[in-house]
Amino acid sequence: MKRIYNNINLVNRNSFGVVESAATLVEFDTVDDLREYFADQQPRQWYVLGAGNNTLFTKFYDGVLIVPKSAERTILCDDGESVDIRVEAAHDWDELVAWSVEQGLWGIENLSAIPSSVGAAPVQNIGAYGAEAKDAITVVEYFDTRTMEVVRLNNEECRFAYRESIFKQELKGVAIILAVELRLCRTPRPNLGYGDVIKEVESRGGATLSNIRDAICAIRSSKLPDPKVLGNAGSFFKNPIVEREVAKRLLERYADMPHYPVAGDDTKVKLAAGWLIDRSGLKGYRQGAVGVHERQALVLVNYGGATGGDVIALAEYVCGEVKRCFGVEISPEVNIL
Ligand SMILES: Cc1cc2nc3c(=O)[nH]c(=O)nc-3n(C[C@H](O)[C@H](O)[C@H](O)COP(=O)(O)OP(=O)(O)OC[C@H]3O[C@@H](n4cnc5c(N)ncnc54)[C@H](O)[C@@H]3O)c2cc1C
Repeated sequence: MKRIYNNINLVNRNSFGVVESAATLVEFDTVDDLREYFADQQPRQWYVLGAGNNTLFTKFYDGVLIVPKSAERTILCDDGESVDIRVEAAHDWDELVAWSVEQGLWGIENLSAIPSSVGAAPVQNIGAYGAEAKDAITVVEYFDTRTMEVVRLNNEECRFAYRESIFKQELKGVAIILAVELRLCRTPRPNLGYGDVIKEVESRGGATLSNIRDAICAIRSSKLPDPKVLGNAGSFFKNPIVEREVAKRLLERYADMPHYPVAGDDTKVKLAAGWLIDRSGLKGYRQGAVGVHERQALVLVNYGGATGGDVIALAEYVCGEVKRCFGVEISPEVNIL
């Protein structure tokens, strides 16, 4: 089945809660629905909308929003140690994590409480607390709108990297992800090396799956605003990658500046966008209905009634200030339409 809506209000379909609308929105259940829609309508402009936690609408979207609705979860194989599962795109990511923890399956517990549909998880290779979706994903299955065929890519073919995948590159505007397959395992493999995780886990009595999940949920809710209360899209900006010489010059002036190696490229250094924004004096900065969150400078928030244009104006101001203070360009991680 597919359901087609015209002139649809998007306020409840984006975590920023901005008031915008779209010409058409199509919800589909099966790949045949999708194939039929693309064959009949040949939409000129379209975008896959999952749960809208990483999408900022800045104006009327004069195209078709494609929304997957199938959310089945199936166990494909269980050899007593590893368990392969197939999960359809509309399944809520955190419900999947909660289920895996209840089942005693390790692999995605550090990715607790990331607001996402399963179909969006491989797109930016969601990650947190030292884990990434790519560590568990074995296959991504998508509908190719050029050939109208279903294609399966293995982990390597997805070309996962930090907040990156083939779905943000060559397959952008081509692939509609239908399902993701993951391999979880029964042998405990706690990954506690990041930030306050170990302390929070120990205070709960040790490294069990449910203690890790609870610890991560608690850390996240103490740091990040809940989009249901305060509209936001998580980290608005990517951490910038600069030439080693640039980082060296900045470190001479700001010895406490966080900086990280870039895997596979020792000529580059990754900086922390949140630190740069904070040190530009913008944490808690407010511009009308929008602002920089007071606890997490990477997060832009809608205090109520903001338009996408308000958020963009603030984002441009933030980028300009960081450039003025540090000479470093930062850019949005969020998908802007
Ligand atoms: C409070 C908060 C905290 C967050 N914390 C984190 C974090 O810790 N780590 C992290 O990595 N991210 C984080 N994010 C970002 C967000 O959780 C991820 O980007 C997530 O994957 C978005 O899922 P979604 O279904 O809402 O995607 P949407 O916003 O609907 O879509 C995001 C992108 O994926 C594409 N897409 C969605 N579904 C499909 C599909 N089926 N097929 C093809 N393309 C598709 C869209 O076209 C778009 O390009 C956070 C966001 C919020 C609001």
